[in-house]
Amino acid sequence: MAEESVKTTETTAGSRPAPRSAERPAGGREGARGERRGDDRRPPPRRPRYPRKRKFCRFCADTSMQIDHKNPDLLKQFITDRYKILPARVTGTCAKHQRALTTAVKRARNLALLPFTPLHHD
Ligand SMILES: [Zn+2]
Repeated sequence: MAEESVKTTETTAGSRPAPRSAERPAGGREGARGERRGDDRRPPPRRPRYPRKRKFCRFCADTSMQIDHKNPDLLKQFITDRYKILPARVTGTCAKHQRALTTAVKRARNLALLPFTPLHHD
């Protein structure tokens, strides 16, 4: 390649177009205004790679779903594999239904319809 010899003078030569190759540093804006390094301390805005599905309260969406402490199969969808109650920020349940859900899970535990802990053996 003949460009190897011209590479040193390339920064001053403004007449010929800059080559689009990998030898230029990424974001080479030496003459740009935002040269202060301190401005780049801010983390980049969080942008998901894929559109995340909107969370919604399942009990608000389907009013026929009743929160019942005698229905452990429903309550099991809102507890972890260690039988802890999932937070509303994970499931998307609204505050009103999360309160009812928490009460129902605790009642179901007391009736032995749900375990308190995975350490439990009967
Ligand atoms: Zn709700």
